[in-house]
Amino acid sequence: MLNVLFSAQPDRWDEYRAPLQDAFSTRGLDVDLRRDHAPETVDYIVFAPNGPVTDFRPYTQTKAIMSLWAGVETVVDNETLTQPLCRMVDHSLTDGMVEWVTGHALRHHLGMDAHILQQDGVWRNTIYPPVAAQRPVTILGIGALGAACGQALHNLGFPVTGWSRSPKSVPNIRSLHGADRLKQALTDAQIVILLLPQTPQTENILNAETLALMAKGAFVINPGRGPLIDDNALLVALDSGQVEHATLDVFRVEPLPPDHPYWAHPQVTVTPHIASSTRPETASQVIADNILRGEAGQPFLYVVDRHLGY
Ligand code: NAP
Repeated sequence: MLNVLFSAQPDRWDEYRAPLQDAFSTRGLDVDLRRDHAPETVDYIVFAPNGPVTDFRPYTQTKAIMSLWAGVETVVDNETLTQPLCRMVDHSLTDGMVEWVTGHALRHHLGMDAHILQQDGVWRNTIYPPVAAQRPVTILGIGALGAACGQALHNLGFPVTGWSRSPKSVPNIRSLHGADRLKQALTDAQIVILLLPQTPQTENILNAETLALMAKGAFVINPGRGPLIDDNALLVALDSGQVEHATLDVFRVEPLPPDHPYWAHPQVTVTPHIASSTRPETASQVIADNILRGEAGQPFLYVVDRHLGY
């Protein structure tokens, strides 16, 4: 019998309890899933940063922490955490992100706002969008989410450049890596999508200098993390026309305070950190599969590199 502790916001328990139990039992895992095991008896923790567990020291027998979140910046520096931390990689989470990114990219590419918001009786039939092949897209971060978004955008015809820390070979994406290739990745990009994790190396990666590299009138789409962007630099770039529009899902402070300039800015679309969320049915299977691996003596999947911070 394995003891699995569920440590996420209380309202998630009802959503996850049955899918997790189903996923364990269909894999033949004998699991006592609860929210209140004695810490020293816990084998695995299903974890979200806003749940009750913040001190991992009493969990002396715990073999791994299974994060429900893809982004782990709020837990990766927790000094009490000595157990392996596995982040969430789930095909439904990825599908949701692909749909959100593609939808917002197409909104900007097609200039949809002009027709949705400005029905003023004037027949403007001389302004039409270029085809996707003429609209270079750059994705900063081509991991689980960024690579999938890149494939979808490629399939629509966009030339896609991806940028990562280490060398990558992603089909149909021009892959660049390392800090010294960031300039090349951003130069002349018309749509820039941020799918990097939040680490000391990625903070403010979009700043006055890097925003200036993009094509004039570029679109910025950020479903990654708020601190990836220097907010003041973005506001200046929006006001100058260097950036035509920013669609932002994540912010340094969430919820975004009501008086933040982003809310009222006509060239900013705020979405409330809903780009994609972990889905209980599929995420439970990912967690059960990973526990099965651990119990079979195989290495866990999606283990966070504590040194790199993601
Ligand atoms: P991932 O698989 O770990 O991919 C991260 C990518 O960023 C990798 O390509 C990585 O490079 C690259 N990277 C990291 N540090 C870098 C650096 N210093 N320089 C250049 N590239 C760097 O993560 P993921 O699952 O795709 O998720 C990405 C982020 O999306 C998460 O961390 C989270 O913040 C965010 N997210 C947001 C939502 C939402 O609803 N808004 C939902 C889920 C996730 P390598 O490939 O070389 O490692």
